[in-house]
Amino acid sequence: MNKNTVLISGASIAGPALAYWLHRHGFAVTVVERAPGIRPGGHAVDIRGVAKDVCARMGIMGQITRDRVHEEGFAWVDADGRRTSEMPASLAGGEGLVAEYEILRGDLADILYDVTRADVEYRFGDRITALADGADGVKVEFRSGRTEVYDLVVGADGVHSGVRALAFGPEEQFIRQLGAYTAYYTMPAQAGMDPHWFLMHGVPGGRCAGIRPENDRTAKAMLTFRSAGHAVDPRDSDAQKRLLAQVYGGDGWRVPAMLDAMWDAPDFYFDVVGQVHMPHWTSGRVALLGDAGYCASPISGLGTSLSLVGAYVLAGELAAAGGDHGPAYAAYEEQMRGYVTQCQKLPPGGVNGMLPMSAGAIRLRDVSTRIMIRRPFSRLLRLQAGKADAISLKAY
Ligand SMILES: Cc1cc2nc3c(=O)[nH]c(=O)nc-3n(C[C@H](O)[C@H](O)[C@H](O)COP(=O)(O)OP(=O)(O)OC[C@H]3O[C@@H](n4cnc5c(N)ncnc54)[C@H](O)[C@@H]3O)c2cc1C
Repeated sequence: MNKNTVLISGASIAGPALAYWLHRHGFAVTVVERAPGIRPGGHAVDIRGVAKDVCARMGIMGQITRDRVHEEGFAWVDADGRRTSEMPASLAGGEGLVAEYEILRGDLADILYDVTRADVEYRFGDRITALADGADGVKVEFRSGRTEVYDLVVGADGVHSGVRALAFGPEEQFIRQLGAYTAYYTMPAQAGMDPHWFLMHGVPGGRCAGIRPENDRTAKAMLTFRSAGHAVDPRDSDAQKRLLAQVYGGDGWRVPAMLDAMWDAPDFYFDVVGQVHMPHWTSGRVALLGDAGYCASPISGLGTSLSLVGAYVLAGELAAAGGDHGPAYAAYEEQMRGYVTQCQKLPPGGVNGMLPMSAGAIRLRDVSTRIMIRRPFSRLLRLQAGKADAISLKAY
């Protein structure tokens, strides 16, 4: 039985998934999360390819199947709500732009928390403020005033990772902005909307507004817009809401209702659309996992799968090395590098495809969507499949 102690920063997807595997391999695990609890919010995230095997090995496929969103697909609509093109979920065997297993991010985080909370110490409302890596462990100082020593520390704390800033340096050198921002939040259900389709409205200037019905009371709103760089504080949600009101003011379809709902949304989330690229994900006793080390961006549709697979590999290599972080971290980097590189390749069109700048380009996107869903072109949509399977899982 291994008694090594591991501190994980971040309790969304990567952190609890790693906690699960480390506990199963005999490590003593603590998770520190800056939010007061498991954060709600977000749209549907995809579980693709090898990540489905990881979830099956965790025994959570039943919960995921129970809670996944049942969508018939997504459709683009004009300012009057008329559909201009659509992408049915049934195309490309669940490995196209719409995945077979899509689940609201908050629901997946709840499932992972539920399967770990009895065996792992979770500390909410706290964060790491200093790390000192030494021969016998990492001395960690917390915002709450505690000081403790752990054998290993893992940053699973997202794109703006605090652990990465402390152990690897400022985020500017690692975050590659893709020229867009996105916001997600819960809004009241909209009368007259088909509950089985995710509808999106594109506006010239590179703006998109999407509504995904959730039940008869609520829907998930998404606002994604192009911007070379609005300097907005990542922690100031009032400033972010003011920016959205300014950017989307005057747009049609259901955008006015979306903006109205934004101010009081219980789970407002706003961030840059970007990727994290790093030459190494480990340094001394510290490692990075998920978006903190290799965010692929929401456009990839593979960020959640990457973090689930990364958690399995990192914990497995630590167990295989008997807790010796040197060889374990080297094997983690080696196992994950090719898979991460594949998953960070964006689908055709990338940001331009999702957020065209002109009315003509929006029409062109509709035409190409209508062509793509026809046989024999629909097999091109399986492009995601190869990437999501680009790693072989060891048994550990
Ligand atoms: C609220 C929310 C909504 C999201 N919605 C979507 C979505 O709709 N679509 C999509 O593709 N992706 C979404 N994401 C991102 C998605 O979860 C990730 O891309 C992917 O699942 C990998 O997850 P992760 O655990 O590595 O990072 P994240 O999911 O970003 O989680 C990082 C966690 O670390 C916590 N944290 C941050 N800084 C610190 C700190 N200094 N100390 C301690 N804890 C810290 C955060 O509160 C968060 O709980 C969302 C993330 C969040 C947090």
